[in-house]
Amino acid sequence: MTRILVTGGAGFLGSNLCARLVRNPENQVIALDNLFTGRIENLQELTNLPNFTFIEHDITQYIDMPVDQIYNAACPASPPAYQKSPTGTTKTCVLGILNMLELAKKYNATLLQFSTSEVYGEPQVHPQVETYRGNVNPIGIRSCYDEGKRCAESLCFDYHREFGTKIKVVRIFNTYGPQMDPDDGRVVSNFIVQALQGKDLTVYGDGSQTRSFCYVDDLIDGICRMMNESRDDFMGPVNLGNPGEFTVLELAEKVIAMTGSNSRIVRCALPADDPTQRRPEISLAKETLGWAPSILLDEGLNQTINYFSNLGNERSNTIKCKRETGH
Ligand code: UDP
Repeated sequence: MTRILVTGGAGFLGSNLCARLVRNPENQVIALDNLFTGRIENLQELTNLPNFTFIEHDITQYIDMPVDQIYNAACPASPPAYQKSPTGTTKTCVLGILNMLELAKKYNATLLQFSTSEVYGEPQVHPQVETYRGNVNPIGIRSCYDEGKRCAESLCFDYHREFGTKIKVVRIFNTYGPQMDPDDGRVVSNFIVQALQGKDLTVYGDGSQTRSFCYVDDLIDGICRMMNESRDDFMGPVNLGNPGEFTVLELAEKVIAMTGSNSRIVRCALPADDPTQRRPEISLAKETLGWAPSILLDEGLNQTINYFSNLGNERSNTIKCKRETGH
């Protein structure tokens, strides 16, 4: 058996990863989550499986258990969620990775860190390549997450250099798909839920900022390839994302067209430090992992629209933003 710990296991990425890992009966999967943004519903199909265990736990506290692999996915990832408790976000990033690195060191496990394209901040290099060192505002409202994740990368590499701990780091670009929380505030979930409910789609700023959206199944595939990449000397960081780049306004129009909604587009204030453009350069992932995403935005959006339609209207989507002009 391979004992695999997934922190943030009830979250969007963590729960999709757990669902993938339990398919192999040789894997014993343990999911940790403090349920700050993670949702236990995301694990309902796994809880009765003999090779799956859920433990409610906050990784800022040390936990000891024998493990072979650790996927460290725990951290609120949507800007409104990680800004709700910014000091809590930094603690989750920094104390969380310290606790997980200690565990990896003790049991000679491999730790894969879920890092982020946010380490590039407001990028001055486009598309973003792993060698680019980024342009992060260290005191802005996004810095709890950006600097927390940068510090976590730094700790991974220092544990490797100082103690020989086995680490791998992936930088995850915008990802979407089933198990997203309809209320988490990210652009894909907001737009789809708004369109399905016939509400206005809230475009922040003029909508000309770009993002590159990766479907979750593609991303999980890349993450598993990275963990199981046999060369210990390949630690990353490696970008994982879909290089298809869209403006936020294009995304809004696409969602309206695909849902057949009568919703309108309205403009809201652009949050501080919102990156102007983002697109992953994925040559390294292609060369080292043989990985590239295969699911086009339209196909992935269809799956995600189905997911949110089936969730129904039981959860309200109350997106607070300062309304500017109609569009
Ligand atoms: N955004 C938007 N409307 C929303 C939510 C987000 O226009 O209802 C914009 C946001 O300003 C950003 C982009 O969509 O430019 C992606 O935002 P998200 O929160 O999904 O992720 P980010 O990449 O900023 O972390």
